[in-house]
Amino acid sequence: MSHRHALAILVLIVVGVAAGVFCGWYWGERMLAVAWLGALFLNALKMMIIPLIFAAVISGVASLGDVRKLGRLGGITIGYYVVTTGIAVSIGLVMVNWIQPGAGLQFDRAELPAEVAAMKEVGVSDLLLSLVSPNLVASAAETQLVPLILFAILLSAALTTLGRTGQQVIEFFNGMNEALMKLVIWLMYFAPVGIFGLVASRLGEAGGGAAFARDLAAVGWHVVTVLAGLAIHFVVLLLLLRFVARRGLDYLGGMLRAVLTAFGTASSSATLPLTMECAREAGIDRRAVRFVLPLGSTVNMDGTALYEAAAVMFIAQAYGIDMSFGQQMVVFVTATLAAIGAAGIPEAGLVTMVIVLSAVGLPLEGVGLLLSVDWFLDRFRTSVNVWGDAVGAAVVHRFLPDPSGPPG
Ligand code: ASP
Repeated sequence: MSHRHALAILVLIVVGVAAGVFCGWYWGERMLAVAWLGALFLNALKMMIIPLIFAAVISGVASLGDVRKLGRLGGITIGYYVVTTGIAVSIGLVMVNWIQPGAGLQFDRAELPAEVAAMKEVGVSDLLLSLVSPNLVASAAETQLVPLILFAILLSAALTTLGRTGQQVIEFFNGMNEALMKLVIWLMYFAPVGIFGLVASRLGEAGGGAAFARDLAAVGWHVVTVLAGLAIHFVVLLLLLRFVARRGLDYLGGMLRAVLTAFGTASSSATLPLTMECAREAGIDRRAVRFVLPLGSTVNMDGTALYEAAAVMFIAQAYGIDMSFGQQMVVFVTATLAAIGAAGIPEAGLVTMVIVLSAVGLPLEGVGLLLSVDWFLDRFRTSVNVWGDAVGAAVVHRFLPDPSGPPG
């Protein structure tokens, strides 16, 4: 996409978000009438995810040439994910200890939401088990991306050992990837309208501005804590971009279309096609674009990790339960795991929070306190998730042995 078109679309997306907030705020439920516009955009994005994951990961891993080099690429990538997720959780814990958003809160004991009740049995071993799918089609149907990515990596490794036959299959996936990215560019032109529909109808579903403001006020300090933490982490990532990846603000400018789409869709996975296209336009090496971004969209969730840590501590404070340093360390580790385990879909973080709550013995019903504003905070944390992936691609690009490879 040309620079001029990219800029025009960015401006239109900003207008779409602003108009969505304005219309949803004032016209409330009447804006449900435009929900279909958002659904259309979201469906089109989702349509792309599964073929794109296969094509991108297979051609990305194969373009390493020698699959033994995957160790280095994978090592830098996982290292980046772990370090930044750790920083995010630490920011969440510091903020919540400092602001104490739950202290002195009065509330009725909330009901246990059905989707959370269903998660009761999930533990760390289930997260490990979910890496390998017994049925790839079923995983694809449920947008469980990790087992698909693992399969694509293995397949790609096998293909690189097959000589000419393997090369032909890799060429096929290279072509698929190019074609899918073309589709993504076409779809981007619809993003402003789609995002308008998503934002306006979701605010409408919450009952419009007045009702939403009441929900916000009920847990106001929690919202402030999370948003401030996310803003700080956004800036930390910007510093990493500047000093580790050695890139300037223009990279943020180029990625904003993806970050705002994350805000509109509340789904890192649905945003993935746009994230990849923006990174490719920014000249990021194809090995980084096709490997770091798909994996990051489902594994690297800084915003979600920060949110889970802050929300669990908020619940403890609201119940008047003191959390020792040791317990907070448990929150640190489990919030990181819960963010890794969360799928890149709306409000997934709320469900995997159960892992953190049960690890420190807090009442699961506490999640009920957060329900009314979760959809709102989800949009901000998803934007940070996508921004974290984008910075990750730039960091990995810098450390590739020969970073001058072809983009995206
Ligand atoms: N909606 C988030 C994402 O897709 C996950 C979550 O925190 O709920 O990245």
